[in-house]
Amino acid sequence: MDNDLYSQLREKMVQLQILSRGIADTKVLEAMRKVPRHLFVPEGLIELAYLDCALPTSNGQTISQPYIVAYMTERLQLKMSDRVLEIGTGTGYQTAILSEASSCVVTVERIPELYQSAKVRLESLGYDNVTCILGNGYEGFIPESPYDKIIVTAAAPFIPDALISQLSPNGRMIIPVGSGSQELILVTKDENGEIKEEKDLSVIFVPLVEK
Ligand code: SAH
Repeated sequence: MDNDLYSQLREKMVQLQILSRGIADTKVLEAMRKVPRHLFVPEGLIELAYLDCALPTSNGQTISQPYIVAYMTERLQLKMSDRVLEIGTGTGYQTAILSEASSCVVTVERIPELYQSAKVRLESLGYDNVTCILGNGYEGFIPESPYDKIIVTAAAPFIPDALISQLSPNGRMIIPVGSGSQELILVTKDENGEIKEEKDLSVIFVPLVEK
């Protein structure tokens, strides 16, 4: 299939899965129209890349459903000047969406093979405002902190303190929390460093592994 056909599939995805469910942030919509999701899924699943579902990737992980990627990104209220931390690089698809709508993204992955393949993929697609880190997401990444926005794409049993402390004043973080059933929690830090937590959508993510 040529690129025109993939961009038509993306437009259809945006119309039927994203716009129709109320996502309105133009930066998010533009990024979803632009990032070639079919280049982030395993080769055997390319034809399923634009379907309304999560897909399996290597090492027992998943690439999230397009709507959930758009939803979580919209909840961050990204500005083009934002510095973003992502925990759980996986394929790098969510990373690419963030990269299109912010000034820079630091993304942390614990599995060496996934870290390596996402790094190569993102570099080859020209996402040059992204820094890939091999490490433990519970610790965030202090050298580049603080971050205006933080997104965690694996479910944690609790909100890691290190992530809260690496969030800037007026920052926002979206994180799935829970073991069986999980909910997105939106964490906001005000200008005085006061933290507020709000429950959001129910979701299903792979676990944020502790060790
Ligand atoms: N955002 C990804 C999907 C992430 S799946 C995408 O768009 O493709 C969750 C990822 O979190 C997996 O790659 C998993 O290896 C990673 N992960 C799980 N626990 C982690 C931890 N403690 N630190 C960093 N990454 C972790």
